[in-house]
Amino acid sequence: DKIELVLDTVVTGLMGEDSLQGLQLKNVKTGEETQLPVDGMFVFVGYEPQNSFLPAGLELDPQGFIITDCEMRTNLPGLFAAGDIRSKMCRQVTTAVGDGATAATAAFTYLEQLDA
Ligand SMILES: Cc1cc2nc3c(=O)[nH]c(=O)nc-3n(C[C@H](O)[C@H](O)[C@H](O)COP(=O)(O)OP(=O)(O)OC[C@H]3O[C@@H](n4cnc5c(N)ncnc54)[C@H](O)[C@@H]3O)c2cc1C
Repeated sequence: DKIELVLDTVVTGLMGEDSLQGLQLKNVKTGEETQLPVDGMFVFVGYEPQNSFLPAGLELDPQGFIITDCEMRTNLPGLFAAGDIRSKMCRQVTTAVGDGATAATAAFTYLEQLDA
């Protein structure tokens, strides 16, 4: 009951002086412009992984996420991946933190083996 879906609509402007007070909206089907009073906003950034900086030869899934094994190792020796950039089902803070801890431990082990 607390959620109202506003479909076929884009945000065309933000209203407010020192803080957000509302959104300017435009229905892309009818062209109707309206205003919606709000004091907060979450920007949805999309699903496209920003992978252009990654080295050539790194194995990615069809969506462009890095493929790792369960120890966060990629197909390139010494390169580990963690968090949202990784190919996986659940992208949340908890899984990103777990990935990071695993990747750090695996990287440490990798470096130790180089020294051995
Ligand atoms: C609107 C929104 C709401 C969310 N709500 C929740 C929630 O309620 N609970 C939850 O658990 N998760 C939530 N998530 C998901 C959660 O934010 C992510 O899963 C988590 O932040 C992933 O952490 P990360 O470190 O992998 O990536 P990020 O937090 O995205 O960090 C990646 C960092 O790398 C930087 N970067 C990118 N490219 C480069 C580059 N070339 N060089 C250097 N730095 C670079 C970026 O600027 C960024 O700071 C939400 C996400 C969004 C977008």
